[in-house]
Amino acid sequence: MDYSPYFNPEFELLDRGQIEALQLKRLQDTMAHCYHGSPFYRKRLDSIGVKPESIKTLDDLRRIPFTTKQDLRDTYPFGIASVPLDQCVRLHSSSGTTGNPTVVLHSAKDLHEWANALARSLWMVGCRPEDVFQNTSGYGMFTGGLGFQYAAELLGMLTVPAGAGNTLRQLKFFTDFGTTVVHAIPSYAARLYEVMCQQGIDPRRDTKLKIMAIGAEPHSEDTRKRIEDMLGVKAYNSFGMSEMCGPGVAFECKEQNGMHIWEDYYIVEIVDPDTLEPVPEGEVGELVLTTLNREAMPLLRYRTRDLTRILPGKCPCGREHKRLDRMKGRSDDMMILKGVNIFPIQIETILAQYKELASDYLITLDTFEDNDGMTVEVELSDRANVDDYAALQNLNKDITRALRDEILITPKVKLVPKGSLPRSEGKAVRVKDLRKKY
Ligand code: AMP
Ligand code: ZN
Repeated sequence: MDYSPYFNPEFELLDRGQIEALQLKRLQDTMAHCYHGSPFYRKRLDSIGVKPESIKTLDDLRRIPFTTKQDLRDTYPFGIASVPLDQCVRLHSSSGTTGNPTVVLHSAKDLHEWANALARSLWMVGCRPEDVFQNTSGYGMFTGGLGFQYAAELLGMLTVPAGAGNTLRQLKFFTDFGTTVVHAIPSYAARLYEVMCQQGIDPRRDTKLKIMAIGAEPHSEDTRKRIEDMLGVKAYNSFGMSEMCGPGVAFECKEQNGMHIWEDYYIVEIVDPDTLEPVPEGEVGELVLTTLNREAMPLLRYRTRDLTRILPGKCPCGREHKRLDRMKGRSDDMMILKGVNIFPIQIETILAQYKELASDYLITLDTFEDNDGMTVEVELSDRANVDDYAALQNLNKDITRALRDEILITPKVKLVPKGSLPRSEGKAVRVKDLRKKY
């Protein structure tokens, strides 16, 4: 079939002027909806004298206070909603990676819009109705399950809602059903390959896999390349969060250079997490998002805690929706060790450069004789010669040096056998903090 390269050409192909005009209109509507529908927002906006009519230009957005995860917790479970509960058809609660869960409500229209934004993203990277889509995410509160399911169905693919885990069954589905597109978190993509090797399955010879959506957790460019090499696929970075809806907020196009954030759905700001002032164009800061066509629970200037930047320049694909750079981590993921700020992704980026290492690692912060320190355990790959003790020692020294150059602290590196670190079914657990708290 000859298809259009666009799922929603009328929105994907808007130029900057058209995007901003649409955003202003939708922001004004969202403000009116929040003000009249949500007692939480009405009180907050009244307390600073801002009314929906106060928003005359997009710059007026800065008059609106930020919404934080704490606001969601304080109003748990339904307190920010802008419509009565009988107009909601589903709720999702965040995985609670950090702190208490939060709840996000959706109307039927919200679910449709969410599916549309993600279907548009999948179409952008080449998914078509002839494809067979297999989802390896859990189908529950984690939005990667139902989110991808509805989007893949809307796009028209044959869907295989495999759910999380049971890797042998996943592989059987790949081969029996001719799966061509897979959604997996990056740590699970590596696991799929590991089990394929054990089973003598060659992904290029024995499966039809060609496209993979990877997201939900930070990963480096090298990790993406590794997944592509291992599985013989093109892997595209997918960004989302339950507060916004789930996956489908931003997604890489075929250029694989930054994730287009769908600006007909969101207004994006990047702010300094300390001063909350906008950072200069192209610099890293905290991502702040305002939803533009949510019905049940719009969020105004939501502080995501994710650190990223907007890539300058135009994307050769022709879409003018801004591009987010790969996430640098979360401001609340940040480890502070001996006064140095460190993100797990910095460590992963170094580790991923060694072909002797597999992709699983665990960072432990601990206190030894009143001194805080870091241990990095990392699994060896099949390419490491585990019998050559001297070579392993040299490798260990080399990695330690590279890590010290990156994070300015000398960690203790432990090279451990493949498969020995604990596996989690959901997002990988990368950091354990066992330090004594004074
Ligand atoms: P949840 O709401 O539980 O789905 O978690 C959302 C969080 O997962 C985001 O705020 C990010 O911190 C992280 N996340 C999601 N997608 C990505 C991605 N592609 N790269 C890095 N981090 C991501
Ligand atoms: Zn593009």
